[in-house]
Amino acid sequence: MDAITPESSSGADWDSLPFDNSYARLPKSFFTRLDPTPVATPRLIKVNQRLAKAIGIDPEILSGPKSAEILAGNLVPQTAEPLAMVYAAHQFGNWVPRLGDGRAILLGEIVGPDQIRRDIQLKGAGPTPYSRMGDGRAVLGPVMREYIVSEAMAGLGIRTTRALAMTMTGEMVMREGPEPGAVLTRVASSHIRVGTFQYFHGQRDAEAIRRLANYVIDRHYPEARDAAQPYRALLEAVAGNTAELVASWMLVGFIHGVMNTDNTAISGETIDYGPCAFMDAFHPQTVFSSIDQSGRYGYDQQASIGLWNITRFAETLLPLLDADDETALASAKQALEVYWPRFEAAFHVGLCAKIGLPGGAKGDFDLAMDLLNRMAQQKADFTLTFRRLCDAPAGDHAAKAMLRTLFEDPAVFDEWEGQWRPRITMDGTDAIQRRRAMRAVNPAFIPRNHQVQRAIDFATQAEDFQPMEDLLSVLVTPFEDHPGHEELMLPATADQAVTQTFCGT
Ligand code: AMP
Ligand code: MG
Repeated sequence: MDAITPESSSGADWDSLPFDNSYARLPKSFFTRLDPTPVATPRLIKVNQRLAKAIGIDPEILSGPKSAEILAGNLVPQTAEPLAMVYAAHQFGNWVPRLGDGRAILLGEIVGPDQIRRDIQLKGAGPTPYSRMGDGRAVLGPVMREYIVSEAMAGLGIRTTRALAMTMTGEMVMREGPEPGAVLTRVASSHIRVGTFQYFHGQRDAEAIRRLANYVIDRHYPEARDAAQPYRALLEAVAGNTAELVASWMLVGFIHGVMNTDNTAISGETIDYGPCAFMDAFHPQTVFSSIDQSGRYGYDQQASIGLWNITRFAETLLPLLDADDETALASAKQALEVYWPRFEAAFHVGLCAKIGLPGGAKGDFDLAMDLLNRMAQQKADFTLTFRRLCDAPAGDHAAKAMLRTLFEDPAVFDEWEGQWRPRITMDGTDAIQRRRAMRAVNPAFIPRNHQVQRAIDFATQAEDFQPMEDLLSVLVTPFEDHPGHEELMLPATADQAVTQTFCGT
């Protein structure tokens, strides 16, 4: 491929970017080397300058003239070594021995100023040996959904892959009808999944599992290296991170939608935003995905599914845990015992903080759960209830009136408040201080499904990206008020409601 000429005033360009590709140094059975498939007319529609800077890419390079071609896959930077990773999965509980990156290509890795190594991946970059019947492409709607929701998660402080850029390809892609093609540039602390381990487990390749586990320890869990039993420490760390990740989703009303084992990152980051969504009205059994008929991945199933997925990971590690099968099994079981305590600690403390009682005491947790039950019964909006509750300690009457109306029968809230108010006055915290603490954990803005859909519709139908820009501008700092954008705080009205989101293909 031709070298790329310098394109920024600082002289920095994509060719001078020091990709350092540790995954490409792993055995050949881990991936297939291949370049992205060029597209007709690449056009950059969004770059994330702030993220670029944070991860060590000169923002000038990112918005430079060659970027569209690089980020759509028409040019490959000199030190990149593009590849598609292989993995397997349990999809909706069914074993699939080989999946792999069917439409994503890893350009390589970059080590940031924070010394963190990150993958730079193009999603929608063309077919690979793992594409099966797929076309290797992505379309604008799902690409925008992933960009918006992953950046919202980052704003909320939830561990996640990130979105560095979006390009349109100038090609139409067939889905239910023709749709504009797009490529997402995804940044992850790695793309290793439970399914990556499962692939080698299915191949009965114990040596590959050891190589992968050692790689993961070096890259993500270096403290496990010094533990008495490093692989067991790895399992505990992944179990604990996953438990905390799921708790953090539940505390903001997020439903991942497709928690298959290929969509469960070993790093503990949220990955693969397909038919995901934030709830408006709270109901614990909410399911969004049109393909999740059984409710397997509904809101209240997520913690146990997280453990189910990590148990599949544990199975792949058994030969590394002990030479004796029984001992290995016992060791894995013990390691997995960290899961529920870690989930509960995060969820209990987090939920208590949402009602202004950060200690996480048992009685406070019961009080918070009682509120959730009342919200479910009364179809109260998850995000607004907690946000408006922030103003309640200061005795703001207008705010309280707004809060009550979120409940079909406001008396059901009043009853709860009757227990909560004496409790918050008990510990002597100043009302202003409590309000501040509550506002720091109860966001005003989440990517409401109807707003995400509206942003997608404007972009797809009129190439108007303003609604997306407006949405992103509040989601970067979701705990602030953003006067002038109040409408983005509101739940969908009956005719705006989107009840299902479809698989991100
Ligand atoms: P996902 O549902 O996005 O987690 O994808 C599951 C598997 O299907 C992964 O191996 C993807 O790479 C693959 N896949 C999804 N969409 C496509 C597509 N349009 N072309 C090729 N492979 C795809
Ligand atoms: Mg996936």
